[in-house]
Amino acid sequence: MAKLTFLGAAGCVTGSKYLVEAAGKKLLVDCGLFQGTDDLKQRNWSPLPIDPSTIDYLVLTHAHLDHTGWLPVLVRDGYKKTIFANPATIDLTTLLLKDSGHLQEEETADAQKHKWSKHANPQSLYTSEDVDPVLRLLKPMPRTGGFDISSEFHVESYDAGHILGSSSLELTITENGKKSVVVFSGDIGRYDQPILNDPVTPATRQIDLALCESTYGDREHEAGDPMQVLADVINRVVRRGGSIVIPAFAIGRTQSFMYYLRQLENLQRIPKIPVYVDSPMALSATDLYLKYKDDHDTQFARDESNGGDPLSVHEFHLARSVEDSKQINNVKTPCIIVSASGMVTGGRVLHHLANRLGDARNCVILGGFQAEGTRGRAVQEGAKTLNLFGQVVPVHAEIVEMGQFSAHAGKSELLRWLTGLQVPPKQVYLTHGEPAAAQSLQQAIVEKFRWKAAVARYLDSVEI
Ligand SMILES: [Zn+2]
Repeated sequence: MAKLTFLGAAGCVTGSKYLVEAAGKKLLVDCGLFQGTDDLKQRNWSPLPIDPSTIDYLVLTHAHLDHTGWLPVLVRDGYKKTIFANPATIDLTTLLLKDSGHLQEEETADAQKHKWSKHANPQSLYTSEDVDPVLRLLKPMPRTGGFDISSEFHVESYDAGHILGSSSLELTITENGKKSVVVFSGDIGRYDQPILNDPVTPATRQIDLALCESTYGDREHEAGDPMQVLADVINRVVRRGGSIVIPAFAIGRTQSFMYYLRQLENLQRIPKIPVYVDSPMALSATDLYLKYKDDHDTQFARDESNGGDPLSVHEFHLARSVEDSKQINNVKTPCIIVSASGMVTGGRVLHHLANRLGDARNCVILGGFQAEGTRGRAVQEGAKTLNLFGQVVPVHAEIVEMGQFSAHAGKSELLRWLTGLQVPPKQVYLTHGEPAAAQSLQQAIVEKFRWKAAVARYLDSVEI
């Protein structure tokens, strides 16, 4: 009997890993890092309940670290087979994993030097050296449509509209001549957003099991035109002589912000102020966003054909080196600083916040989901101080939440995606959500569709 085990993203939003066992073979879908609370992060240090060398195949839904960031450990622990992903996801995963390995080395060295870690002898989960063997295993599969992973496993990919290359997968398992189908939503994006295509619901006529993400299963995003909200914030902060820090993932949110800033400048709805993108990775990601045209929606394709770069602003500055990054501290005139990480868990944005949070003229825009246990969540919930590099920094800057920039579908958009399924799934499991969000979506699914739905539990196995 085929079965599926939730090895992550069950009861939390990170650590996505789903193990399918059928016909004597093992297939892993995603291999994400746990992020957020100490309890969750601790799981990254525990071995999998199965030996990685016994896994036969691996397929990725998209490049985000909570779906790919544990690959270096899996490969170090013995996984030697192919990792299938579409070309855009391979390129983005390469960027993200290299950065992740590097960042962990830097942070560990910094923690050892300045003794700010809770641990007596802080260690990296993995280093850059562990990343290269992963990259050698990545093999391309088609962006959309069907693909045979093996004689047992066939996948159909659909654009999930979440980040470049993001997919929902429909997995058909053939075992003893019998077929069963599992739908993996992956992370579902938003409808009617700039740059990327809308999410597409898998079209299969048989669904034995559907896994649906529930990041925003209990919430809708803030209403309001994102261009107007962004213009209002920028004009308000510029008038009082402040600067704006935008913690943003280098992939996805940075491009959305750049797109809107460019549009607002063109329409003369904001002044042309310097915009510092403090992340060499963001620029590489932007190049990939421009390169993979299959993912572009019609408006973006039109913007591109009109000439000019729709993802760049007039006064654009890129900080490549750490020295460039530090120079931004000297900028006293109004400016916008876009820097990773998006949930303020690490990266250069920590320095910018340490430098600017204490000044009430400044503003921090939180544009996406802030997981439990992250500094981003603390700021979102009104923390008066933030611990940065072992120092207590007062939060005087204005904090603005802009859910409009989320890369995740809100509750009604998740239900809209599910409405697109051609047949009722025999069973739905809610994944990739904190408990309240997953439960809320589960109830909504039962009420709206009368489907069998349950919240996935960490390490539980279910029959397919
Ligand atoms: Zn994601």
